[in-house]
Amino acid sequence: MAIIKKSPEQIEQMAAAGEVLVKTMNLLAGKIRPGVTTRELDQAAEKFIRSQGCEPAFKGYRGFPGSICASPNSMVVHGIPGAYKLERGDILSIDIGVVKDGWVADAARTFPVGPISPIAQKLLDVTEESLHLAVAQCVPGNHLGDIGHAVQHYVESENGFSVIRTLVGHGVGRDMHEDPQVPNYGKAGSGVLLEEGMVLAVEPMVNVGKHQVRMADDNWSIFSADGTLAAHFEFTIAVTAAGPRVLTPWHEAKGGSAAAA
Ligand code: MG
Repeated sequence: MAIIKKSPEQIEQMAAAGEVLVKTMNLLAGKIRPGVTTRELDQAAEKFIRSQGCEPAFKGYRGFPGSICASPNSMVVHGIPGAYKLERGDILSIDIGVVKDGWVADAARTFPVGPISPIAQKLLDVTEESLHLAVAQCVPGNHLGDIGHAVQHYVESENGFSVIRTLVGHGVGRDMHEDPQVPNYGKAGSGVLLEEGMVLAVEPMVNVGKHQVRMADDNWSIFSADGTLAAHFEFTIAVTAAGPRVLTPWHEAKGGSAAAA
């Protein structure tokens, strides 16, 4: 396994890609409401990303047709944007990749569409919190297993939901998917030693029910196998001497929240 570490200058370039990604996420946050199709969101995202002199990283990736992934309700990830029209009470996971000057940023967030059920809200809260707990583990001297353990312990032991096993986070840099793989489960203190300059896309994917997933007939969309709701939150995070640095800080956004929609 070859992990490509990034210099401080390269991390700044990735942060610049992340800045465009956050602006894109905020733009979509303002558009998410009942009646909007996922295709409209995709088109808005692509137009904005290109207007910033960047490229949507997902478009054409292994033939993926969209600029974003848009995955409602029991769909976990990799939803192809299309005719699906958002309904009040849905949850919608939006995953965005932005390439700026050859550097990739990758992040995801699950939004409520209007008021949602208490269980859906708990799923969003728990999955987002598990990501923040994962961020805290991204320090030099920790191990990869500390990240997965933090997510799994919070999601499963403390909250009774399930972490998906077959989909994992990843290193990110000039390529969207670099080593190492970053599972959302694991044993504290195990696995690769985290070192300054590593950049990881950490992305808890959580089902309300069991952890198993199934692939849809379109060969992209992945659903929870038992049909329960699923959420996905992701940051691109740099491991630095000063601690974890979130390069895609969509959580710092003010006024872009879907709750206002
Ligand atoms: Mg990713």
